[in-house]
Parts: sequence; structure tokens; C-alpha cells
Amino acid sequence: MERVLSGAQPTGLIHLGNYVGALRQYVQLQHEADCYFCVVNLHALTLPRDPQELKEKTLDVAALYLAIGLDPKKATIFVQSHVPAHTEAAWLLQCIARVGELSRMVQFKEKSKGSAESAGVGLFTYPVLQAADILLYQANKVPVGEDQKQHLELTRDLAERFNRDYGEVFTIPEPLIPKIGARIMALDEPTKKMSKSAESKWNNISIMDDPKLIEKKIKRAVTDSENQVRFDPENKPGISNLLTIYSTLSGISISELEKKYDGVGYGQFKKDLIEVTIEFLRPIQERFHELRHSGYVEEVLKEGAERAGKVANQTLSKMREAMGIIQI
Ligand code: ATP
Ligand code: MG
Repeated sequence: MERVLSGAQPTGLIHLGNYVGALRQYVQLQHEADCYFCVVNLHALTLPRDPQELKEKTLDVAALYLAIGLDPKKATIFVQSHVPAHTEAAWLLQCIARVGELSRMVQFKEKSKGSAESAGVGLFTYPVLQAADILLYQANKVPVGEDQKQHLELTRDLAERFNRDYGEVFTIPEPLIPKIGARIMALDEPTKKMSKSAESKWNNISIMDDPKLIEKKIKRAVTDSENQVRFDPENKPGISNLLTIYSTLSGISISELEKKYDGVGYGQFKKDLIEVTIEFLRPIQERFHELRHSGYVEEVLKEGAERAGKVANQTLSKMREAMGIIQI
């Protein structure tokens, strides 16, 4: 059986980009593979956070995993920091990672806003912690959005280097990047990816946005002056992005949507997309509210941490042994 691991940071509530690019795949994969899905709260510390808010968001994201349809009987759902093996494995891997390869990480350049001198060391080394997250579970498939491709390459390089230098310990993972929706763009700036940590609230649609806000955000979404609903990401990034969102949420193909809105214009297209989005999110939001403060989320996470810990500790033990760390 295939082994799957993936996670999202509790840097904010999950948005449609996270859902379309990654979490939608989690829901399918739980029926086919041995799945581990975590809330990577230690990654969230790489930029300054309010501690109380981080606690709340960690539980929010876990509740959202359940609300979108992850079933703890099928998949192991846990919080990264509840399995201490992640940080130890990250240290061991940091000792084989190279400054040069981490310096090439595009996300570090973006998130440090080009100023490496004043960036946190955690922001620099976090792709190694991400490699530890994946490798500890011997995952062969990692469902992620396109922005994580480079980090997955690094993970593979580290795993191969470790296996070569210390003996075969790790499975070499592959990214699972969807054909459609791998990079959902920001609504207000469709040349940049939609992000949780964006400064502007018009950047993304959160899974928890209420109907009024969804309406405002889609109405304000940047398009172009052509008024023709056509999929052309290069020349029409805004409308192509909205088409991708519409298609994945409704299940109607992009070419069918192009036909449906031929000669109709952006006004009606946006109006319908608002409706589709509100209706898609309604049951998820209802389930989130039922679960979030029921005590169930904490229960799931406790059991998840135990299950995940068993698997992670086995790999960690092999890593220690291979590297010459004595165990008693
Ligand atoms: P942050 O801005 O704090 O990094 P984020 O929006 O990038 O937040 P992450 O928690 O870093 O979200 O990523 C969770 C998952 O969602 C990853 O698999 C990532 O590849 C995917 N993802 C993030 N943004 C997008 C996007 N715009 N389109 C498609 N997938 C995305
Ligand atoms: Mg991110």
C-alpha cells in the first residue's frame, strides 16, 4: 500500500488555493493509501506569530481537515509538534544539508523579502524540517501544490544523500501535483499565488468566509477589459484563475464553462461563481462549527499523535543507528 504524507501550516485558515491544490487530493487519497496528514505548527513559527492565535489556528486547521471530509478512521491526523521525532530528525538532516542548496529555495527568498541578513534562521532551515516530516513516514507520495515542488526536490536530494552515505533508510518520495489547480492565483493580484499569509484580505477566499465576504471578494477579483470568458493563463491570468476555481468546485470542465459563458460576459460569470462557491463551502462551514469546540478535534489529534509517533520513531531510530548516535 502506498504511504502518503502532507500538511498545511496554521498560519491562517485554509483557503481555496490550499483546498484545490492539496487538500482535495487528501480526501481522495485516504481511501486508497495509508495516509498521514499533519498541521505543521512548527513551520508556522518561522515568521513572528501571536502565541494564543497560533494555538487557536492549529485547532482550526485540524477541524477544517475533518470538515472537508478527512476521516480519522481512514487517515492519521495529527499536529507536527506532538511528535517530537520531527525536530530531532530535522537536526540530523540539517547536518547533511548544505547552505548552498537551502539558499536556492525560492520560498526563502520570497518570505525573507530578499533580506537574508535579517531573516530568521528557522525560515532558512524549515525546508529541512519539511523533509523530516515526509521522510519519517517513509512516504512515497506527497500531495502538494506547485509551490512545494522545489522543497520536494530538496527532500529527495537529502534522502538520496543520506541513503548513499549512511545506508538505505529512506523511501524516496514523489510529489503529487494536480494537473488542474496546482497554483491558484491571488484574486487581487493574479500573477502571484494565493496565500494564507498575504497582507491583503482580498488575496484569498478562506474556507470560512461568509457569503457576503465571498461576494465582495469575487466581485473585486482582478480580471481584464476583454469581457470574454476564455482560459488563457498567460494573457488572461485573472479570468483563467476564476475558471479554474469554478471548474474544480463545480466539477464542470473548463471547456464546458467557456462554452456556457460564450458571449455572456464577466458580470454573470462572477455572479454564478459566487453562488457556486457559497454553496460549496456551506456544508464544510456547518461541519466546522459543529466540530470545533466539541472536544472531538482534540480526541482525534491525541490518537493521531500516538499512531504517527509509532511510525516516526521507528524511522528515527534507524537514522540514529545509521549516523552513530548511541541508543540505550
Ligand atoms: P503561507 O502563505 O503561510 O505559506 P500557504 O497558503 O502557502 O500559506 P501552506 O500551509 O504553506 O499554505 O501550504 C499548504 C498546502 O497548500 C501545500 O501543499 C501548498 O503547496 C498548497 N498551496 C498553497 N498555496 C497554494 C495555491 N495558491 N495554489 C495551490 N496550492 C497551494
Ligand atoms: Mg506556503
